[in-house]
Amino acid sequence: MGISGISRRHFLGGAAALTLSRGLRGLSQSPQAPVSEDLALINARIHTMDSTNRVVSQLLIRNGRFTAVGNNLTLPSNVRTTNLQGRTVIPGIIDAHNHIVLVGNRPGWHTLLEHVFTIPDAIAELKTRSAEVPRDEFITIVGPISAMQFTERRLPNLTELDAVDRPIFITAAQGGSRTNSKGKAWFEAKGIMVNPDGSFAGQGAGVALQTLRKELLTPETRKRNALAALQYYTRLGITTHRDSGAFHSETPSTGVANENTYTMHDPFMALNRENRMPARLRIDFLHQDPPNANPPLPTLGPRLRNSFPFFGNDWLKTGGIGEFTGGGVEGLRAIAKAGWRAEDHALNLNGVETLIRDRETVNAEIPIGQLRWIISHIPAFPLELANRANALGIGVLVGWGPTRNPGQNGASVGPPYKMLMGHPIKMGYHSDGGDITVINPWLNFYTMITGKNLAGQQILGDQNLTRQETLQLATRANKWFIWEDDIGSIEVGNHADLAVLDRDVLTVPEEDIKGTRSLLTVVGGKVVHNALP
Ligand SMILES: [Zn+2]
Repeated sequence: MGISGISRRHFLGGAAALTLSRGLRGLSQSPQAPVSEDLALINARIHTMDSTNRVVSQLLIRNGRFTAVGNNLTLPSNVRTTNLQGRTVIPGIIDAHNHIVLVGNRPGWHTLLEHVFTIPDAIAELKTRSAEVPRDEFITIVGPISAMQFTERRLPNLTELDAVDRPIFITAAQGGSRTNSKGKAWFEAKGIMVNPDGSFAGQGAGVALQTLRKELLTPETRKRNALAALQYYTRLGITTHRDSGAFHSETPSTGVANENTYTMHDPFMALNRENRMPARLRIDFLHQDPPNANPPLPTLGPRLRNSFPFFGNDWLKTGGIGEFTGGGVEGLRAIAKAGWRAEDHALNLNGVETLIRDRETVNAEIPIGQLRWIISHIPAFPLELANRANALGIGVLVGWGPTRNPGQNGASVGPPYKMLMGHPIKMGYHSDGGDITVINPWLNFYTMITGKNLAGQQILGDQNLTRQETLQLATRANKWFIWEDDIGSIEVGNHADLAVLDRDVLTVPEEDIKGTRSLLTVVGGKVVHNALP
C-alpha cells in the first residue's frame, strides 16, 4: 500500500484510503523507499518564508531541490504538475527540539492521537487502529497525549476504552494513566493493580510501563514505532526533528523520559540504512555527569573524544550535546574546548540566570560565540538576560505552551515572545514534546498566536505573536538552530521540504488553527504523505 493510503486510513478512516489523488497518482511511493521525483506545484499560495516573506503561486522541484520559485514560471512539459487550487503551502516545519526518539521506542502498538480533541473521536481512532493490531496485543500511548487536549479535560476511562477490542495502556504528559478491562486483566495477573476507572494505584503506572517495556520491546517493534512516529508527524507538516535526548537507563525503566541513550537511535539508524526515513532527524546527545566526578566527566569526556558532531547524511545526522550538558562549568568548558554545540534547558528564572552566568564564565576562557549554543524552553526572560545571552552568541528556543497551566492569579508563564521578536537574539521554535507535552506543531502555534493553552486559559499575557511570526520561527528561524542553511524556506537551491495545508492558517478563525493538517508533505522531493482529495 502506498503512503497516501496508510496516512488517510489513520486520519480519516478506511473508505478514504482507497482514492489516490489524480495529480499525484503514481507519486505515492511504497513506504520502503520513497523516491525523489520532479514535481511542479501551481495555483498555490506559497509562503516561501524567504528573507522578504515573498508569497508566490508556483514552484518546481528537481532532484530533491527547489529549482524555480515564482509566479510565471516556464515549466518543463515532462514534469508532473499539480494544480493546488489556491491551497496554502509552507516550508516543511522544523521542530528544533523534541523527543521523537523516545516516541519511536515505545512498547506495544504506539498510537498518536494529538489530532483529536474529544474522547469519542479518540475512541473512534483507537477502534480504527485496532484493525491493524493483532488480537490481544497492546495499543499504547506513552507521553504525547494530554487531558487538556480533550474538551472533556480528562483522559478516557476504562468503560470508554472497553469499546476497543484490544488491551490499551495510556500514560499522559503531565500525569494520568489509563487502561481498559483487557489491559487490567493483563496487568493484575502480574500484580499491578488497576482502579475501577482504569487508573493505576500508587506507582503502578510506572511499573506497568516498565513491564510493557520488558515484555514487548524488540528491535522490530522499535523500528515499527519509529517509522510510525515520523510518518504521523509528516501528516502535521513536520519534515525535520531535532531530538534532544532522554534520561539514560541501562535497563527498562519506569520513567516516560527514560531510555538507553546508547541504543535508542538504532531503530532510526536502521530506517536510514534502508532508505525509509520519511522525515529528517537530527540527534543531540544528553549527558548528566555530576560536577567534580572522579574520574571527571565519565560519559561526556568519551563522547567528545570518540564521536563526531554534525556527522551523517541529509536524513539523519548527529548534532551537539544536550538538552543537558552535565558536569557543571567543567562540562561546558570541555564542550567549548572540543568546539561542539551545547544546549541546556531552563525551567525558571533562577535556572536560566545560572545557565547564563556559567556560560559567561566559560566564554571568558574559551570563546563560545561561534558555536551556536542554545538555551531551550526559556521561561520568564527579562531584557537584561536577553542582552547577556545575545552577547554570548546564544540562541533561545520557545514554544512548549499548549499544555501549560497559567501562573498564580493568571500570571503569564512566559516566554516574552513579543519582546524577543523585537530583540536581535536568535530565537527559534520547539515543541519539547514526546514525554512532557505534545509535539503537534499546530497546538503549539495556537498558543503562540492566541496566548491560550488548550483549556482556553491565557498563559502569555500580552506577549502573543502574529501568525506570520509564528510560522517564521518554525521554518526560516530554525535554520540557525539546525545549523543548515538549505532547509526552512522555499528558495531556489534549498532542499524541497514543504507542506500543503488543508486550510489557510493565516486567515482561518483562531480556534481552527488547532486542527490543521498537511494534505501533501514533501521531503527532499520525496512525497512522504499524500492526502490530497
Ligand atoms: Zn526537551
